[in-house]
Amino acid sequence: MLSDKRRGEHDWGSTLVEAVFLPVEAYHLQDRLGKRIPHDQRFAVPRIPALVELCIQAGVGLPEYPTKRRRKSIIKIGRKGFVDANEDDLPEPETDRFKQPLLQELPYDEIVAPSSPEKTPSLAEETLEAWETVRDGALKLTRSYAVRVCGYCPEVHIRPTGHKARNCGAFKHQQRNGQHGWQAAVLDDLIPPRYVWHMPESGEELQRELKTFYGQAPAVVEICIQGGAEVLEKYKATMRLDIGIPSSSREAEMVV
Ligand SMILES: [Zn+2]
Repeated sequence: MLSDKRRGEHDWGSTLVEAVFLPVEAYHLQDRLGKRIPHDQRFAVPRIPALVELCIQAGVGLPEYPTKRRRKSIIKIGRKGFVDANEDDLPEPETDRFKQPLLQELPYDEIVAPSSPEKTPSLAEETLEAWETVRDGALKLTRSYAVRVCGYCPEVHIRPTGHKARNCGAFKHQQRNGQHGWQAAVLDDLIPPRYVWHMPESGEELQRELKTFYGQAPAVVEICIQGGAEVLEKYKATMRLDIGIPSSSREAEMVV
């Protein structure tokens, strides 16, 4: 339905996990030091979750996404060229050292709510902990494995230089011939936090007029907190927990 017919009201649908944990895909590189992906290869190179690609480059071995591993530093020739060092003197690599199958996602019908209300807070704590572990780990990996993001669109590329596929559809892309504008990525480009309103403990419905009093938190964090997890210090500022929320716009006017 058009927004003017809804008078700006949201049309709430049912939730998929992708609504709180936004999927970000990137090209999987067979060789992270190989040639940059040219435009005509853009449909031939597999796209996988960007976070998975980062972990593969950092050492995780997934049989379905092989990648070239070097055990010695490359030998640079001139300004841009290089050759691989001779690794013949090294013992056979332990091929299975980091190899692990990718965990299958739970089938939709097996996803059920916690069996009892008492189990919800511990699941919320566990989930929040996993979110923090993933973000902290990804941040550390990006210090060694550079990630680029387009300044015009959300495309990310796990490599110190961007790819050459001209598939940027963002603002004024015609002037750039579809080329992405690559710049250094930050963690939020790789794992978008998707900020949502923090529901006040009173559980009252949010009112548009009181918007300036409400705080926000990443959707995953907000779900966990509503489930009973403790608020971590770093989220307290944006959640505006220290701000009293007036009960009506009239009271709000008196406060301001
Ligand atoms: Zn772009």
